[in-house]
Amino acid sequence: MRHYKQLLLANKAWAKELTDENPEFFKRQIAGQKPDFLWIGCSDSRVSPEQMTMTPPGGMFIHRNVANLVNEDDLNLMSVLQYATDVLQVRHIMVCGHYGCGGLQATLAGGTSGAVDSWLTNARAVLHAHEHEVTSQPDDETRVNRLVEVNVRDQLIKLARTKLIQAAWARKQEVFLHGWVYDIRDGHIKPLLEIDASTPLDAIGQPDKVLHASPDAPS
Ligand SMILES: [Zn+2]
Repeated sequence: MRHYKQLLLANKAWAKELTDENPEFFKRQIAGQKPDFLWIGCSDSRVSPEQMTMTPPGGMFIHRNVANLVNEDDLNLMSVLQYATDVLQVRHIMVCGHYGCGGLQATLAGGTSGAVDSWLTNARAVLHAHEHEVTSQPDDETRVNRLVEVNVRDQLIKLARTKLIQAAWARKQEVFLHGWVYDIRDGHIKPLLEIDASTPLDAIGQPDKVLHASPDAPS
């Protein structure tokens, strides 16, 4: 097990490396942030948004929770989303799930209690909405991973329907929503679907109508 003091030593080395490479690096950080991306992902320790996308400090606004759920009554996420869309004006928002998600494994297995059980209410709703699609998979691993995918799709649609995103699109602000899944087995991110202001949301709520990411998506 790593001793906590190793984190502080590693931090010193990291700051030195950045400063050696670019003596102005931290001075520029003080000036403010202008990230292009908002990342909404799972809290899982194996999923490291900045590391796996090689994003330097200042490049990504981040919100994480168990099973990357989007609830419009979640003040934490809605505050992050409000700041990201209204002030930072990020151009892209990713909802990124990951295969083998413990939160969704627990949703399938049941038997949770306390805060986790309450939190997973939203994930159970996803399972109920796509029960056949998930439970018809041949084994536990593929059932969880199918739930991971339909969960990303449903959370992205919920994100698109929030007042904040609808207001951004109404004022012609360009915000593109991306549904991704990170594969902890090989480190690769799989794009599942994209939504923008012109996407008919009702059409992608159906299990057999997943929109696949187009290769010429805006950067
Ligand atoms: Zn997870």
